[in-house]
Amino acid sequence: MPPSLGREPRLVLNARGVSDPSSVVDVVVCGAGMGGLVAAIAALEDGASVLVVEKGAEPGGSLALSGGYVWTFPTFREYTRFVPNGDQDLGRILVEDFATGVEWLVDHQVRLGAPVDGLGPDRAGSGFRIEPDPVSGAVEPMVKAVLDLGGAIECSTRVVRLEQDEDGRVVGACVRNAAGTRVVRCNSVILATGGFQGDAELMARHVSQWSDRALLRASSSSTGDGLRLALTAGAATSRALNAVYAHVMPKLDRPLDAGGFRALTQFYVEECLLLNLDGVRFVDESRGDALCGLELLRQREAAGFIVLDEERHRGSVMEPFVPDMMRSDPLAAVRSAGGNVIVAESLDELCQRLAGFGVPPMSALTTISGFDAAAEAGVPDALPVPRERGLHTCRQAPFYAIQVIPGVTFTEGGIRVNSEAQALDRDDRPVRGLFVAGVDVGAISNTGYAGALSAALITGLRAGIHAARAGVPA
Ligand SMILES: Cc1cc2nc3c(=O)[nH]c(=O)nc-3n(C[C@H](O)[C@H](O)[C@H](O)COP(=O)(O)OP(=O)(O)OC[C@H]3O[C@@H](n4cnc5c(N)ncnc54)[C@H](O)[C@@H]3O)c2cc1C
Repeated sequence: MPPSLGREPRLVLNARGVSDPSSVVDVVVCGAGMGGLVAAIAALEDGASVLVVEKGAEPGGSLALSGGYVWTFPTFREYTRFVPNGDQDLGRILVEDFATGVEWLVDHQVRLGAPVDGLGPDRAGSGFRIEPDPVSGAVEPMVKAVLDLGGAIECSTRVVRLEQDEDGRVVGACVRNAAGTRVVRCNSVILATGGFQGDAELMARHVSQWSDRALLRASSSSTGDGLRLALTAGAATSRALNAVYAHVMPKLDRPLDAGGFRALTQFYVEECLLLNLDGVRFVDESRGDALCGLELLRQREAAGFIVLDEERHRGSVMEPFVPDMMRSDPLAAVRSAGGNVIVAESLDELCQRLAGFGVPPMSALTTISGFDAAAEAGVPDALPVPRERGLHTCRQAPFYAIQVIPGVTFTEGGIRVNSEAQALDRDDRPVRGLFVAGVDVGAISNTGYAGALSAALITGLRAGIHAARAGVPA
């Protein structure tokens, strides 16, 4: 076993000024977001020496940008109902370990508010919100815990290659930063790089040819490094490789900074109609904005329009969609951010104006009128794309169309992983010395969404403990 790092706290925010960077530890954690920080603490508390390598200039990843809801479904039955194609073993662990995971967070000074119900698809999930925000409520206390336990976090540094012995066991990580490249020897590596949504090539290959038209609604540093490193080391992919967790966002002609990610999410789309550029509906909007976002990503140009009338606008569209939101007018927010909100006194006029954006007006008019007629007759199954709930008429002027694109938050497919968070090969045998946490773990969500911070918490705990024990003789 390699000698351990000393137990003194060390934070290396970048490579400059570090005379003796760590070159031998028990565990290398790749990524200092939710999964990586949890895994690092768990491994340290299990007695391992740990080096966390973080590509960004600061720890936090998408955790730092998130809404901070740590939630999942209360039962495995609910999980299978909403994520029928998810990895059932990992889904069961997510639900069963959730309460223990929440206690663990509290024990590690992560600040959680009062319990919150009504989260996730169909408001079926429950959990807690990190208070007052994810940086001061979670990133900072977890970074402190890593350092207090004697771990090190090296920022502006990335893992570029895994070292393997002749039997294929992972025995080191090659890391690179401004000071150069070095190999850190270790007993195990935990990959927690946050998915591949930031990589145009992987997104186009696996998810949609129109991915480059989407907004990246996440940290830009999650570019599939974990997946690539794992595949090179012999691991296999999970299912759900073509699925992402996305939201419907306004199309803007300027980049949207992270502050707008949540404020401009068009959560209310499930109360409206969503048309593609051919002027037709393509998804049951009532199944939620996340599914709308995913299906929009697969449409031509990954673009479309939310359509609604004044009755919707004044009613359900103004209602808060997540518990900490106030009643407000999302259309006004889109306008002030520079997005396109078309307003018209008749459906004819609305569709004529859509023609200016390349939407065939007759097609749009047929779709909206057909939807309205189905609502009037109460026959949702007659629609080309049926609507499970919330079928409504669309006839009170003025009428609105909001130009939208998908905003991708994280990829749902990734590395194939077992219940001990070990990476698996194509024959489901563990790649020895290689563990995975967070979004890099594939298929906990798959088109249905089961919570991401919770999944990173649960897989991080398992990865940390099993990685710490990987080098210890039984
Ligand atoms: C706007 C927004 C709102 C959200 N709201 C919620 C919410 O309310 N509830 C919820 O459950 N989820 C939410 N999420 C999703 C959640 O934040 C992420 O899914 C979660 O942070 C995933 O944890 P992770 O550890 O896998 O990835 P991250 O937290 O993103 O951490 C990955 C880290 O790996 C680093 N990295 C990447 N490549 C390398 C490399 N080669 N070497 C070293 N480091 C590397 C990255 O820089 C990053 O810091 C939200 C996300 C966003 C963007």
